[in-house]
Amino acid sequence: MEYALSGDPDAQALFDEIMAHELFHCLTRSHPDFRARMYAILGFTVVDEDYDFSQEIRERIISNPDVERHNSHAAFDIGGEMVDCAVIFTTGRPFEQPGDSFFELGVTGLVPVDDLGTMYTAEDAANFWDVFGRNTDYVIDPEETLADNFAMTILYGPDGREYQSPEIIAAIDALLKSGTAKAAA
Ligand SMILES: [Zn+2]
Repeated sequence: MEYALSGDPDAQALFDEIMAHELFHCLTRSHPDFRARMYAILGFTVVDEDYDFSQEIRERIISNPDVERHNSHAAFDIGGEMVDCAVIFTTGRPFEQPGDSFFELGVTGLVPVDDLGTMYTAEDAANFWDVFGRNTDYVIDPEETLADNFAMTILYGPDGREYQSPEIIAAIDALLKSGTAKAAA
């Protein structure tokens, strides 16, 4: 936390963004209804049960303490067909060399919910960036993308910045100001 106390405005902004981002994870963890409403902003539907991925896919998933569940899906345009897919974070190849990092090898995978042994990648989906929006590059899971968008919304508001996907910020802002969000959170 030293940098946050250094008086450097950039460091302070970064610190605030991380805190707001993590706050989102706390909220979704303890308030499933809030989580479902937030995920719906990106077009994700949350279901009750986690998907029972094939063993091969399960073994490839890079675990992330912020992403506790794989129980949401959105419609992705795969070869001109809209396919309901869950999103996972995986690797393009195994970690083999010293210095291999999941930031470089990481791949966002799309697994059709009616074919849990198949995986497409973000590049296979023509509407990938339409779903996740372009406010952040942190697009490994709706949980992380929404955490960044949530942070921007509460720190800067809909009018506080130029957003590439302002509709996401506006929708989060509206949800947070609605009685529903208050009741849920
Ligand atoms: Zn996170």
